[in-house]
Amino acid sequence: MIERTLVLIKPDAVRRNLIGEIISRFEKVGLKIVGLKMVKLSKEEAMKFYPSSEEWLKNVGKKSYETYVKLGIDIKKEFGTDDLVEIGKKIKEWLAEFMSSDRIVAIVLKGPNAISVVRKIVGPTKPIEAQPGTIRGDYSFDSPEIANAEKRALFNVVHASDSKEEAEREIKFFFKENEIFD
Ligand code: ADP
Repeated sequence: MIERTLVLIKPDAVRRNLIGEIISRFEKVGLKIVGLKMVKLSKEEAMKFYPSSEEWLKNVGKKSYETYVKLGIDIKKEFGTDDLVEIGKKIKEWLAEFMSSDRIVAIVLKGPNAISVVRKIVGPTKPIEAQPGTIRGDYSFDSPEIANAEKRALFNVVHASDSKEEAEREIKFFFKENEIFD
């Protein structure tokens, strides 16, 4: 199935001059770039980009909770709460601060199963768990313990849409239909 997906090159990668390197990985796989722009979001815009649904916040909170349990760290002490939605809200706030801290590059990629193919090339959320060969595995070694101790989002180089619905919503956030090519 031919799909479209959104990739954001995050501020950490832009600052490290990795734009070309990252774009070339998607091109080499065969995905087509059908939209491309550089933007600087305000914190408010970044807050709007990420979902506010309880489900999304809970999911982000849950992933962090599991990491803390695995590490034997007391999440209540660290976040002041063990409510998953509240933890998710805090992470979203850090994320919005990070995403508005510098320019980002927004890319619309098109190709067969583009959404899952791009997630595979990008690798898992936590760079420390991302295999070499994935973008996050090759260009970052950040971990939640370090990020959370510094009260900031994970520096994980890129964002990629994770479902068809999210991809269409995220593409619309950055691009007008006439800015996307076929
Ligand atoms: P992904 O970006 O892989 O889809 P999520 O949607 O779960 O992952 O999280 C969104 C972003 O929030 C991540 O890319 C990361 O930058 C940040 N993030 C997620 N969990 C944490 C955490 N425990 N600490 C700091 N930042 C986090």
